[in-house]
Amino acid sequence: MKKLDIKALLKLTEYGKEVTVNGWVRTKRASKNVAFIAMNDGSTIKNIQVVVEMNPEFEKILANVHTGAALSVTGELAESVGSGQNVEVHAKKINVLGVADPDEYPLQPKKHSLEFLREKAHLRFRTNTFSAIARIRHAMIFAIHKYFNDNGFYNIHAPIITGSDAEGAGEMFQVTTLDLENMPKGEDGKVDFSDDFFGKAANLTVSGQLEAELAALALTKVYTFGPTFRAENSNTSRHLAEFWMIEPEVAFFDIHDDMDLAEDMLKYVIRYALDNCMDDLEFLSKRLQEEEKNKKQEDRSMELIEKLEFVLNDDFIRITYAEAIEILRNSKPNKKKKFQYLIEEWGADLQSEHERYLVEKHFKKPVILTDYPKSIKAFYMKQNEDGKTVRAMDVLFPQIGEIIGGSQREEDYDKLYTRIKEMDIPEESMWWYLETRKFGTVPHAGFGLGFERLILFLTGMGNIRDVIPFPRTPFNLEF
Ligand code: ATP
Ligand code: MN
Repeated sequence: MKKLDIKALLKLTEYGKEVTVNGWVRTKRASKNVAFIAMNDGSTIKNIQVVVEMNPEFEKILANVHTGAALSVTGELAESVGSGQNVEVHAKKINVLGVADPDEYPLQPKKHSLEFLREKAHLRFRTNTFSAIARIRHAMIFAIHKYFNDNGFYNIHAPIITGSDAEGAGEMFQVTTLDLENMPKGEDGKVDFSDDFFGKAANLTVSGQLEAELAALALTKVYTFGPTFRAENSNTSRHLAEFWMIEPEVAFFDIHDDMDLAEDMLKYVIRYALDNCMDDLEFLSKRLQEEEKNKKQEDRSMELIEKLEFVLNDDFIRITYAEAIEILRNSKPNKKKKFQYLIEEWGADLQSEHERYLVEKHFKKPVILTDYPKSIKAFYMKQNEDGKTVRAMDVLFPQIGEIIGGSQREEDYDKLYTRIKEMDIPEESMWWYLETRKFGTVPHAGFGLGFERLILFLTGMGNIRDVIPFPRTPFNLEF
């Protein structure tokens, strides 16, 4: 007999058929004559109810069965009235695969704080919240690949170890096989990397973009979806040291095409979640509402599913950075000095408080900002004719702030070369990138979508540490 997971078992209607349920006990309620065991195997948020008519043998077995125990139960599929599902299983044989001592098992059936569960990351998959998030993560990985595949994009694996630090100088993790106790030094007293594994300094990548550009300049429509690493010591609820990024890059695209792609893709994957993850979203929505009960009415966020629908229904607002600065400068929180960082003039780097003000209070819609000052953006962004701004575009979302950062890329060799020099980027590490601007250069554009920021938005969770199974953050490397 084929093994059926609980998701499949719950759909059966062949009452009387013998089935086997494998899973973990969520709760057990026992009386003298009958016991009810709610079992879950993570295939769905729903539990299946096992009904046990007590006899001396079952009584002995069930004495060892508590929340967290693993069971394999064989019995008869029956129509259910009280379990909340259509079916239940009437046990004939109970095999205890693994016990869980109630005095030791941390996940007893009561409410646990997210902070507590972070310390139990090895077990937290077994909660409704974290299994729902894991399933939504999976669905989004699938939806993203499907979106790009259906639209003629090719997936490219960018390298994880990189020899260039052009993008992330200062916030990169170094990779070395040198003996840290005894580093070879050159005459200038600096570490001599010629003896290191690669014969030069190596780092973990902060982005696959530069390599994606090389591929786009041959395959036209490409994307990467890989891990990226940033050693920025920002202990915020939106930053991880290791996170996953989706980076499409398209030849013959300008910044407007880039914005269209970003908006279309985000709407597609959100739609996909609504169409395919409703059970989990409904659970997370209830969880969120429960959590928000303690907040003041005006601080409560929109109901989760309503919020997702809301993003789908309208066009995103598209304005320039300069327009955003004017709005922010004249905003109430700026005038009343409520922002932590006050906006005084053009040139200011926007913080997430400003991004969220624009989205949540001013426009009440996702916003795409373009034409940022070149001084606060990366060297590869296409320079505008004004000499001050670049064709950057950031997508700002409610609750998150920046979810996407992108741009049209500078395709002019001389302008790119000058910018690299101005920004003190070592030319010898960039020769291959520059060379693409010598041979058949074309306008092109792309962006980076932070996968965990997308999952934050979709799940309504408040902290990025809770939407990746094993978060990597400063002073946190357990599991
Ligand atoms: P921020 O200003 O929020 O730190 P950034 O401008 O440094 O982000 P980009 O280099 O533009 O980010 O990266 C593209 C996307 O990757 C961002 O829009 C965001 O969604 C995501 N991202 C960036 N840094 C992190 C991080 N440390 N953890 C998780 N996601 C991140
Ligand atoms: Mn950015």
